[in-house]
Amino acid sequence: MTWHADILTLFPAMFPGPLGESLAGKALGAGIWSLKATDIREFGQGAHRAVDDTPFGGGAGMVMRADVLDAAIGSVADGQRPLVVLTPRGVPLTQKRVQKLAAGPGVILLCGRFEGIDQRVIEARNAEEISIGDYVLSGGEIAALALLDAAIRLLPGVMGTAASADEESFSTSLLEYPHYTRPATWQDRAVPETLTSGNHKAIADWRRQAAADITKIRRPDLYAQYIASGAIAP
Ligand code: SAM
Repeated sequence: MTWHADILTLFPAMFPGPLGESLAGKALGAGIWSLKATDIREFGQGAHRAVDDTPFGGGAGMVMRADVLDAAIGSVADGQRPLVVLTPRGVPLTQKRVQKLAAGPGVILLCGRFEGIDQRVIEARNAEEISIGDYVLSGGEIAALALLDAAIRLLPGVMGTAASADEESFSTSLLEYPHYTRPATWQDRAVPETLTSGNHKAIADWRRQAAADITKIRRPDLYAQYIASGAIAP
């Protein structure tokens, strides 16, 4: 069955955008996943098809209207796929959540603009609020593309070797070990000797140690999870 993404956006021309290229693009062409970008403006109010209004309580900027967004959501909701609102106020996106989304039938993504979205439609539609990081984008479209890219590459038949997903950063609570390829020496920098030894056990040990070392320095939160999971501290 095709994994289907509906995107609700004021800028439908931004899709599939970069997802029309490379692995995701090929998979789109092959029908492994499909995408429909719906223009929220189609559901706008009045002659000008207004989608936003001033915030109750005052303050800068405009807020996307609940009635407009509810109609847009209603045009694609199927009771099967989760509705995700991209927002910096959301729960941070994780590889675990991406894996679950990829394992389901697809997703409906609502992209905010302006100051954000009337909270009532988020609650009424039981939407999941997801953030792609602690910074503010000008709209939800790039966040939606990031989420989709992460999910699509996990769909069966998209990635070359299934094993590559298992060893990646976050799959084991560790960041990935560093990679090297030819030439074995470049600008007087040699590749770590173990990697050219042909000793598979030593290579696996080296990689685990390198992954643990970098995680401990860069992401002590992930390292603590790794240790808590019962892994032996290297
Ligand atoms: N006033 C909002 C705040 O401070 O939380 C920021 C609104 S932002 C300018 C406009 C839209 O961009 C948001 O409604 C959301 O859809 C999207 N957006 C911005 N940063 C994001 C992030 N880190 N993750 C997901 N979506 C984001």
